[in-house]
Amino acid sequence: MKTKTKTKTGKTRGERVFDGLGVSPGVAIGPAFVRESGPLQVIEKSIAAKETDGEVERFAKAVAKAERQLTKVRRKAESLHGTAAEELGYLLDAHRQMLGSRRLLDGVTGRIRKNLINAESAVMAEIDAISAGFAQMDDPYLRARAQEIREVGHRIVRNLVDKPLHGFGSLAEDSIVLAEEITPADTALMNPAKISGFASALGGAEGHTAIMARSLGLPAVLGVAGLLEGVQPGETVIVDGTGGMVIVRPTKRRLEDYRKRQAEMARQAKALRRLRDLPGLTRDGTRVSLHANLELPSEVGQAVSAGAEGIGLLRTEFLFMNRTDLPGEDEQFEALAGIVDAMSGQQVTVRTLDVGGEKLASALGDLTGDAVNPALGLRAIRLSLKRRELLDMQMGAILRAGARGPVRVLLPMISTPAEVQAARKSMQQVARKLRKRGVKIADPLPPLGVMIEVPGAALAADALSQNADFFALGTNDLTMYTLAIDRSDESVAYLYNPLHPAVLRLIQFTVQAALRARLPVSVCGEMAGDPRYTALLIGLGVRELSMASFSLPRVKSRIRQLDSQTAISRAHAIMDQHDSGRITALLDDFNEGLSG
Ligand code: PEP
Ligand code: MG
Repeated sequence: MKTKTKTKTGKTRGERVFDGLGVSPGVAIGPAFVRESGPLQVIEKSIAAKETDGEVERFAKAVAKAERQLTKVRRKAESLHGTAAEELGYLLDAHRQMLGSRRLLDGVTGRIRKNLINAESAVMAEIDAISAGFAQMDDPYLRARAQEIREVGHRIVRNLVDKPLHGFGSLAEDSIVLAEEITPADTALMNPAKISGFASALGGAEGHTAIMARSLGLPAVLGVAGLLEGVQPGETVIVDGTGGMVIVRPTKRRLEDYRKRQAEMARQAKALRRLRDLPGLTRDGTRVSLHANLELPSEVGQAVSAGAEGIGLLRTEFLFMNRTDLPGEDEQFEALAGIVDAMSGQQVTVRTLDVGGEKLASALGDLTGDAVNPALGLRAIRLSLKRRELLDMQMGAILRAGARGPVRVLLPMISTPAEVQAARKSMQQVARKLRKRGVKIADPLPPLGVMIEVPGAALAADALSQNADFFALGTNDLTMYTLAIDRSDESVAYLYNPLHPAVLRLIQFTVQAALRARLPVSVCGEMAGDPRYTALLIGLGVRELSMASFSLPRVKSRIRQLDSQTAISRAHAIMDQHDSGRITALLDDFNEGLSG
């Protein structure tokens, strides 16, 4: 039997199944919350005559951004089949045309200059005027344009305001968030008690949004072409993050089937929780320590209950997201101290700020801003060293938190020893100042480690090992930079492969350099949290893994099934291969032998 609902136009619509990238496993069922359809509240602000050029420029930038967004969604629509692709293509082309219409562009600019108002309210006034004109037409085709021009205007307004216009505060229980694009900053606002899963039209499997979804334990599917055009707010939606599907208006049978799957997954999770207090020990007695990655301070409880032996990667970007000012040292200290206290004496590895690229912070927009290749530009440690006050402030907060429990400092995106030396200097200077003021800090100073996530850093790991106290392999960026694949771009997601021999050789090279220099080395990229890779990483000599708390029990269970000597032999066989297909086959075969 098919579930049917009536649309605004009176048409009855049945179940629809959309394919996408399943980026966070699990099944979520709930009412759709379509973010882009929420009401827009724009406040009209008067501006001075001398501010008009600035407002016109903001408007032009928002239009350019809208063009880029529509191009991306249009490209995505081409992957749909049959008439769906055609219909969506026409609609998006119409939107692009409207965006370029002189009536809209001149109308808004004229209102900013003549009425001395902010760009947002000028856009709203202009689209009201244009759409009112269309709405009065006799021809139903032209009348329908009224809605489209409003959608285009709303897109521009959303781009003009920094914060998400529609927070996730007032949602119905178990809502499924659907949007064109969900940024890492958006996910930071999601409360898993209210939201049961999400899906978006854009986004790749290894981007930060996907990592946040796994970290929050929210089933998610990204890169779903045509999603928003196929769903109305409030309709029942299933997000199948394991299978990479979104089902809108599911049939009764489908719903029953998915509810059964949810119950089975809950049973499995419960069984895995029994491993909590057992060590990560292979069958032949090799110890592998398991740590948690933290995206948000609120997740620290999950890390403790998953049995993490420490925090292997604390991403501090959360402190800088969804705000227009910068957090001061005290505020940063409070947040870090809370995490150190909650870990009760277990080590917390705090990574210094890694904004830039896909992880933007509004307050730093002037620096990370409009680079042609943001992933290759002023991000991570480069930004921190350029804005030394930022690094010093972070060092101050970390050193103070280090007086409450063991901490380590981790530097992102290192490519040369000089960067490590400069950061160490900052740590020592800040420590001196704090001691002089009588402030309690970590004693001795915390170990200073580097992320190995740039291919050049992996190849120069010997040189870096002379300057660093530990290595953390960031396989997400390492894969991206080695293969030149944007990890958050769904159109090239099929090429993103950590099992490419080039990536594996860099991992092996780094681990060997660390072992020679007797430096601790961990893997904290997403590879660490996927049991599929566990045997290979152990076979390559890795003995410390850090991952989303949610993944920890499954990886521990895999370690306890393994024999490290056979994993080492299989890793040798894998490293002799030149072809990622063959590597995948050798690894999958090994894993199947374990579970069978
Ligand atoms: C990585 O690049 O693998 C990593 C752990 O850092 P992030 O995902 O935060 O860039
Ligand atoms: Mg990284």
